Amino acid sequence: MRLTFIKIDHMRFTCFVLLLFFYQAINSQSYKKLHDKSVLVDTHNDILSSAMLEGKDISHRIKEGHSDLDRWKEGGLDVQFFSVWTDKVSRNKEGFFKDATQEIDSLNLLIRKNPERIMMARNYKDVKEGIRHKKLVALIGLEGGHMIENDPAKLEDIFKQGAGYMTLTWNNSTSWASSAMDETLHPDSIKQKGLTDFGRQIVRRMNELGIIVDLSHTGEQTFYDAIATSSKPVLLSHSSVWNICPVFRNVKDDQIRAVAKNGGVICINFYSGFIDSNFAKRMNELEGTRGKAIKDSLQQFYDAAKLNERQRFSAELEPLRPTLSQMVDHIDYIVTLVGDDYVGIGSDFDGVSSLPIGLDDVTAYPKITEELLRRGYSKNSIRKILGGNVMRVMRANFR
Ligand SMILES: [Zn+2]
Repeated sequence: MRLTFIKIDHMRFTCFVLLLFFYQAINSQSYKKLHDKSVLVDTHNDILSSAMLEGKDISHRIKEGHSDLDRWKEGGLDVQFFSVWTDKVSRNKEGFFKDATQEIDSLNLLIRKNPERIMMARNYKDVKEGIRHKKLVALIGLEGGHMIENDPAKLEDIFKQGAGYMTLTWNNSTSWASSAMDETLHPDSIKQKGLTDFGRQIVRRMNELGIIVDLSHTGEQTFYDAIATSSKPVLLSHSSVWNICPVFRNVKDDQIRAVAKNGGVICINFYSGFIDSNFAKRMNELEGTRGKAIKDSLQQFYDAAKLNERQRFSAELEPLRPTLSQMVDHIDYIVTLVGDDYVGIGSDFDGVSSLPIGLDDVTAYPKITEELLRRGYSKNSIRKILGGNVMRVMRANFR
């Protein structure tokens, strides 16, 4: 009798383990399959200014940094907006515009070396074609209106070089648009909050040319002025949710509602300091007064002269890193507030000094799909979040 019981229990246990094994195997297959079948678009990566400009070849796997062609393939990425960024002091004597064209040249060099693996898209048809041919589709995102040097002809020139979006400001304001940093932290430094008449002209010209108006980094006043001016859906290429992590670079509920009304999309920035308020708070404490201006820019944080300080900060902040699940909370928040049509992925890989646990580099994208499935998102919803929503905004903007 006793022996039979043991046998039955043993059988039950074995069945349970086998079922669990099959469930996990099916589950892992299904998220990978869904991820591979979906179009994945990342609207912000800083590899041009953080590595390629200095001649680093990312054709093959490199040890440092977050991205290269091999790892993008592994992560299932289809479309990448490459951020063209320059600081408020230009690298070249000739100015910001020259900085921008040098970065675009470094991207063109990578494409010339790897024509089978990556292509530049100039319009929506190119994007679709690149995806069909399983190439990484490259687009340019200009990060900061200062690079057009107050000259509409330069806007047109940069469009011809492939610009797909332009953030109206970076952390620095222009004479025609105020930034989030200046509106919140240095209000006395700006003559006028929001867009000037010239700023409105720039937004209209962007609409005509087919450059997406990107409102990441802009101040709230500029945000509302631009959304009222733009005839096309806008983008926030790398911003997260203010209500979860109240830092000046994140967006408030009313802004999220305004983007939904406009038909635009907010792409979640993975930077630990924009995901988790505890991390942001500690970072502020460590950086002192400078920390009030949390920077999603390695170039600023990784100043060679401050190497010791950087190492100390990194060691202190390491245990405070948020998790991948906390990043997905930001996606959840927007979906709950306005629905699943207005959120996307804008990692800021290679532009940030800390990333959530589980999102260490571009090979981690499939884990986002896995987490969304685990939370009960439908396949249709997941496809929209991974890239469908940004594709809609591109189609509405590009000629
Ligand atoms: Zn940025």
